Amino acid sequence: MTVYLNPRARKVRGSHLLLISCARCSHPIATYRKVGESNLVKMFSDRIVDGTVDFSLDPGAVFCPGCQMRVATRYTTRAEGKTAYRLVPSAFHRRKVNAPLSD
Ligand SMILES: [Zn+2]
Repeated sequence: MTVYLNPRARKVRGSHLLLISCARCSHPIATYRKVGESNLVKMFSDRIVDGTVDFSLDPGAVFCPGCQMRVATRYTTRAEGKTAYRLVPSAFHRRKVNAPLSD
């Protein structure tokens, strides 16, 4: 499995790591630095640590490498003007992990 580091990743105080995986085939998609316990609706580009998708290419949509299902779509947040990926609610699972995929 190829894992790409995200060069845009920034460290955030008080965050934890989530592994985002495909709901259909369980293939890992990305490690995400989440702040707070709120529902996961989007992933900010600069909080994606690494992934099996190359986020350095700013993909317009994120497809599962295992089954090609669309998991997220890129957009720019209105409030912050930041690049983010809006997750398809039924398309992914999340769980807390201690280390990113690339570790
Ligand atoms: Zn899949």
